[in-house]
Amino acid sequence: MAANPKTLRVVAAHSEGDCARVLEIETVDASPLTPVAGKYIIVNTGVMAGDKPVKRAYSLTSAYGEAHRARLIVKKLGAGSSALHEAPLGAEFSFSGPWGKLLPEPGEPPRTLVVATDTGITTAIGLATQASTLSTCRVVEVLWLRGEGETFLDVDDVRHRIEAAGVKYVCATILPASDPARVNEAWAHVEARVAETGAEVVLASGDGAIIHPLRTRLVPAVREVRVECFFHNPEKKIA
Ligand SMILES: Cc1cc2nc3c(=O)[nH]c(=O)nc-3n(C[C@H](O)[C@H](O)[C@H](O)COP(=O)(O)OP(=O)(O)OC[C@H]3O[C@@H](n4cnc5c(N)ncnc54)[C@H](O)[C@@H]3O)c2cc1C
Repeated sequence: MAANPKTLRVVAAHSEGDCARVLEIETVDASPLTPVAGKYIIVNTGVMAGDKPVKRAYSLTSAYGEAHRARLIVKKLGAGSSALHEAPLGAEFSFSGPWGKLLPEPGEPPRTLVVATDTGITTAIGLATQASTLSTCRVVEVLWLRGEGETFLDVDDVRHRIEAAGVKYVCATILPASDPARVNEAWAHVEARVAETGAEVVLASGDGAIIHPLRTRLVPAVREVRVECFFHNPEKKIA
């Protein structure tokens, strides 16, 4: 675990759809988790892979109540996420963070397009719902590229959350992650939204195969692209 291990507690939880669990968490020492926009924590799930603890990153999707409370939305995939799906109320996990460099540096707030693929929508929800409090960017639209057959969160529930924050929402279905044509299809959607919105900055989260190349692909059409790769990360920051 990185430099600042702390402990979180699961305070409440519910399922959304057939593969998402929303966990309301709080830090045991009351250290702050807010502001949540663009931030994630790395949770020691308590599972071991051989002699190595399984640590997984999860986005701080929204705040609730006091500064030491926030929500995670976890898709059930493998061992790490399953541990969080099975955690009873009151369960405690060590974690590090909040981490994240998704937000631009202070300056004149640029027109910002938030691009999310797949579970990357968790980061987009955090950014959109806090859009009015962000001083470093002006979020004009969230684009969610959702793999065919994806059941993680309901498209209209997400629309409601994002539009309620006054941010435009566009959702497009793309090919599943296993299809080699998916990346080009996704880039076409992103480029169309960049042109339409006149975005100066793009903040992207989700499938690294799609979003990592945007850093060179979209510049100079936009002045800055920041990405958070949840999977297919070519830099493999998190195992
Ligand atoms: C900065 C960051 C923030 C993240 N935020 C969230 C979040 O808010 N909610 C969330 O559910 N996950 C999030 N993730 C992904 C999460 O950290 C884990 O990778 C994921 O839960 C799978 O871990 P696992 O141990 O269950 O499965 P593993 O055994 O590690 O993975 C099982 C398979 O699923 C694939 N996979 C991993 N992550 C995803 C994904 N997100 N979508 C589709 N396939 C995937 C893997 O490539 C692998 O093939 C985030 C990742 C990063 C780096």
